[in-house]
Amino acid sequence: MLLTRFFLPVLKENPKEAEIISHIYMLRAGMIQQSASGIYSWLPLGKIILEKVTDICRQEMIKAGANEILMPTLQPAEIWKESGRYEDYGKEMLRINDRNNRDLLYGPTNEELVTEIFRTHVKSYKELPLNLFHIQWKFRDEVRPRFGVMRGREFLMKDAYSFDMNYNSSIKSYNIMFIAYMQLFKKMGLKAIPMRAETGPIGGDLSHEFIIIAETGESEVFVERELLNYESSVTKINYNEDLQEEVNRFTSFYAATKEKHEESNFHNEDNILIKTRGIEVGHIFHFGQKYSLPMRATISDKEGNKIPVFMGSYGVGLSRLVGAIIEANHDHKGIIWPKEITPWDYNIINLKSGDNDCDNICLNLYNLMKANGLEVLYDDTDERTGAKLARADLIGLPYQIIIGPKGIKDQLYDLKSRKSGDISRLSYNELINFVQTNK
Ligand code: ATP
Ligand code: MG
Repeated sequence: MLLTRFFLPVLKENPKEAEIISHIYMLRAGMIQQSASGIYSWLPLGKIILEKVTDICRQEMIKAGANEILMPTLQPAEIWKESGRYEDYGKEMLRINDRNNRDLLYGPTNEELVTEIFRTHVKSYKELPLNLFHIQWKFRDEVRPRFGVMRGREFLMKDAYSFDMNYNSSIKSYNIMFIAYMQLFKKMGLKAIPMRAETGPIGGDLSHEFIIIAETGESEVFVERELLNYESSVTKINYNEDLQEEVNRFTSFYAATKEKHEESNFHNEDNILIKTRGIEVGHIFHFGQKYSLPMRATISDKEGNKIPVFMGSYGVGLSRLVGAIIEANHDHKGIIWPKEITPWDYNIINLKSGDNDCDNICLNLYNLMKANGLEVLYDDTDERTGAKLARADLIGLPYQIIIGPKGIKDQLYDLKSRKSGDISRLSYNELINFVQTNK
């Protein structure tokens, strides 16, 4: 991508309205723009990252056997009256009246709607287990939208819903999602810690939140120190096997959100309990027949008895994750994208656009790298050196290749690692060699 052809409206100053680093950098790097409180437009850089996060999540859901659907943002009030949640949800729910005076709402979550789809089509235990997921914008009229996309009012969520014929099978489905979550966060370069959590308005008996430890996180959490150092090495996962043991490996540690924390439940003399803060990036719930009972979503078992289906729901905050990834990967100069998420691996910076030699070398390199299937952003703008270097650090691609008249004279070019800040001076061939072996 040529930077002159890329819409990247960076800001020089820190925006006054932003309090935390991810919000500041997302605004400064031209990733988002506020449209109304807690509601954002995603500009090209932001959109690319959001898409990467979404895709990693989607692929893992499919691998775990879930089917992708797409439910609308607007839902009829009737199904929420059926489940009994229409009144309970309170002011967080945005209620809308259409021209025929029908009550609609902008979905804050989709248990009711997916249950309606299920009950229309699935009648027999033979069709189970089933997991349906979608990726769709949600709206919650939060009391205090803040921290940019971290606590928005409109936000993108992946939500999955499992359907099973009995409790045991339903726990298996829960475990599959538990492990899929560990996998997908890892694939985003993140260390998410599963914690026992409250079920809140979704309801149910079993629930885990997935938390990224960060000082700016809104959740207060209690974690056994051991778990902070624990590497989640769930590499070879077979979703067709029973995953209870894998799940136990994580849940045997003590980790709980403030609401669930009970000091007396923590007994481990050799270890230390740490009180810290974190960002909730995912939340899974097992709630059995909570919705299928009032909504009469029944299936017939082997004997022909009609049983309300057992359900769970599983949410990932995709737009919040973009902020969380920045909270976990930055320095005082800007973002440092993990390789799993970065929009491009290399940032070629031409320090003297308009100079024939500089332009030629940069363009040759750019074309060669692209032809080799590498992801490159080429800064071909004619701005000042300082501005270019500062912008490159702000947008945080893993490697910068910095080319100017001095380098051309010496035939040595700077390769800078954004993370370590280390600069190596390489010949053209060494540079080519590096990018080709570093694929
Ligand atoms: P929170 O406790 O942060 O308000 P929640 O428990 O109400 O979240 P869930 O119903 O569990 O949220 O939603 C699933 C996921 O959606 C959350 O784990 C979070 O990552 C994301 N999410 C929830 N509310 C918001 C929001 N206002 N802005 C951005 N993401 C959100
Ligand atoms: Mg939650």
